[in-house]
Amino acid sequence: MSYVTAIVLAAGSGLRFKSKTPKPLVKINSQPIIIYCLATLSKHSDISDIIVVVNARSARDIVNKIRQYRIAKVSRIVEGGLRRQDSLGNGLKAMDRRTELVLIHDGARPFIDRETVSSVIKEASHSGAAIVGVPVKPTIKRVTRSLPRFRSGLPSVARHQVTSNVLVKETLDRRYLWEIQTPQVFKKDLILEAYSKFGKTEVTDDASLVEKLGKRVKIVRGCYSNIKITTPEDLIIAEAILNNGLRG
Ligand code: C5P
Repeated sequence: MSYVTAIVLAAGSGLRFKSKTPKPLVKINSQPIIIYCLATLSKHSDISDIIVVVNARSARDIVNKIRQYRIAKVSRIVEGGLRRQDSLGNGLKAMDRRTELVLIHDGARPFIDRETVSSVIKEASHSGAAIVGVPVKPTIKRVTRSLPRFRSGLPSVARHQVTSNVLVKETLDRRYLWEIQTPQVFKKDLILEAYSKFGKTEVTDDASLVEKLGKRVKIVRGCYSNIKITTPEDLIIAEAILNNGLRG
């Protein structure tokens, strides 16, 4: 069996979430968001150790929660960086020498399930790179220009307003579109090479770095309930998922 290190990224600023409490510590049904995925990963027999990447503002409270909930496999807690990939870089540096496979997961995705973790690890141990995703449900259109974003991460156009100068360019064929989630799992040497070559370019997920190397990335079908808690309404959806037994 491979030595698998999980890196859980929880160092985001949470600006889009608009809460005084740091997002990883906000509760869903009395348990902090970050504890859900840590508990699942820690109990999983394929996971050897867990590195949690946090920001300075929430570090102490997260350490306390990890103790309180007895998350056994957390080996290190490291500080993150400005961008997601900077946080990933700090996590990669903290890896154990024995690590063979790296599983990267968003701390803001509480409902990852055991079976999906098993499948994505199994696939990556064969192919080198595997990520979790689901076929997209909405219709997605490419437009003529990107909108600038506010510091909060929200697009700089008010709701109900016509997006001036933004026109539809094409409608993408939904049969070829997948919404990509985490976990994403890679052979250690592969993600280290990808990170050292492309870690400075702006990406929104880890597989993008491996894709830039020209390597094949496999997709494992996950669950629609593996949501990322980003904006306040996601918390209500998370509670509904939990209270209706729709997790995993
Ligand atoms: O920003 P985004 O929604 O893609 O964040 C996904 C995950 O990456 C979140 O769990 C967030 O805490 C983490 N992140 C991080 N460091 C950053 C930005 C995001 O660890 N600088």
